[in-house]
This record gives sequence, structure tokens and C-alpha cells, in this order.
Amino acid sequence: MSRTDITDRAAAAAVPAQRGVLTTQAWLQVPSAAPGVLRVRPLTGEATASYVQRLATAYRLTLPQLLHGAGIALTGHGNLPAAELHLNHNAAQHLAGLTRTPLPHLTRALPRLVTDDDTHHTAAIARWKRLEAGQQPVRACTLCTRHRSQNATDTAWVHPAPHRLMCPRHQQAAPDPRLTSTVRTWAVPELVTAHHTHQRLLRHPRATTAWTAARAITTRWYDHQQHLTHRWHTRLTRLCATNPHLTTTHSASPTLLARDLVTYPETITFARTLTTLPRQQHPSVGHTLSLIAHRLGLPRLASNANGPLRALLTPTR
Ligand SMILES: [Zn+2]
Repeated sequence: MSRTDITDRAAAAAVPAQRGVLTTQAWLQVPSAAPGVLRVRPLTGEATASYVQRLATAYRLTLPQLLHGAGIALTGHGNLPAAELHLNHNAAQHLAGLTRTPLPHLTRALPRLVTDDDTHHTAAIARWKRLEAGQQPVRACTLCTRHRSQNATDTAWVHPAPHRLMCPRHQQAAPDPRLTSTVRTWAVPELVTAHHTHQRLLRHPRATTAWTAARAITTRWYDHQQHLTHRWHTRLTRLCATNPHLTTTHSASPTLLARDLVTYPETITFARTLTTLPRQQHPSVGHTLSLIAHRLGLPRLASNANGPLRALLTPTR
């Protein structure tokens, strides 16, 4: 059977006569578990393992049972967020057939789908792979997840994109993979403002460069307790007061777990200021520093006090 056959027939599997295509033992355990019966849409940036797990939960199967039922062989063991599920091309095709979602749509939503594309394999294979700490997904907004899971679960993991640090609609964020619950952000409303400013900033051609530079500086200030310490401490205290799990349930300190969130408004203000600096004529470092200080609501920024900031603003181009 060719790959196209599998997809086409799986896509048509709601038609009773063709239901047998992907039906194996796992499906037979649950009478309603025909492919495509339950619509479980992927979240943007969702980890492959998270989507497969939500799908399994919706069908009341375990993850191995679901893969088995979809004709995908599973190797290894793993858990979110420390490991990710890698599917080869044929397995991704099977998943697309099962969810009745065209593969290009699925690939767009699931950034890690088909990362190791061994197309020479005719078998459909899924493999658990460990992820480095910096590569691990974070918890997605529980309400968005519930909405996209037929109410079956509120747990999902997404690979973080800088401009999707929080859900502005439900005021939740998970700035660190070590957080097993999301952080409720309603006590810090400036985060929503920062989120919207960030979306507008993305239209600027230098948005990514500016954000990266700004985040490096604010992270350094935060770690070295410089310039904005009082403001950030107040914000962190508010987040901790409304999210007891930040202080109680984790091995890492809330200071570290919430860092990206606490500094987010200033990171975005900083990034935005950087994109407004004229590119060709080089304004004096002193002038730029006072502009940044003004935008951040600081009386001043000493020009010699901060190596990285000075390096960033001193033209080398
Ligand atoms: Zn949400």
C-alpha cells in the first residue's frame, strides 16, 4: 500500500465501509474510537508528544495504545517535558490520517514533527528522544488547551516562541519548562500590554535582533540586581502571592522560574526603543542611554557602568 493510499483511506475512514483501515486492537477497545471521530486540534507550537498524548486522552487510550492503533511502532520511553516524540515521515502521515488533518497543516502547528526524516523507512516509527533543558517545551494555557481537547484535558506542552510568552486572553504564562503549572498573570496587567506591543514589534525588520539584545541586557540587570531591582521585586512578589506553586513546589527558585515574565515589560520597551534608533547616523552613546532610561522610566543610566549595554550601543558596523 502506498503512502498516499494510507492517507486517503484514513481520511475517508469515517465512512463505515473503510473504517477497517486503521482499526486494530487498540481501537476495538473503545467503540467510538474510529479515526477522525474526535476533533482534537493542535495548539500553535505544540510538542508532538503533547499532541499525541492529548489525542490519546480524548480517545481514552494511553499514548502507546493510540500509536499502536494508528499503525505506528513506538520505541523507547520518555515523558514531557524532558523528552519529545520524534515521528518519521510515514508515522507523521499516519497521524495526519488519524486526525484527518492534512500533513502540511499538522507540520505547521507542530514545529518538531518530522525532524529526523528517514523516508527510506517504510515502517511508521515514533521514537522518544531526550531534550536538553534549553530545548524543552513549556506548559500551554490550560483554558486554551481544554478548549482544543474536547474538555478531555487541560495539559499541553508547547515549544516556546518569544512572542508567545503568555496567553493574553486567559492571562496565563509558563516562562520555564520546570513549571508544571502555569503562572496566572492577572495581578501584573502590564504583561498583557507588553504582549500586544510585542506582536506589533514583530512587523519591524529588526524585531528579532532587538528582542535578543534587549533580553540579554534585562536578564543581566535582573541577575546582577541593577537599575530595575525594586520594580522587578515588586512584580515578582505579586506573581508569587497569586501563584503559591511558584514558591512551594519547585527545585528552582521563583526568582529564576519567573525571570522572563518579570522582566518582560522592560525587555519589550527596550527592544522597541532599539528599533527606533536611527541605523545610519550613529547617535552618541550618551544620548541613546538617556533615551532608553527615559522609556524605561529611569532617571538615568550610567554610560560606564554597564559593559554589555555600552558594547551594544557602540557602533561597530
Ligand atoms: Zn489561553
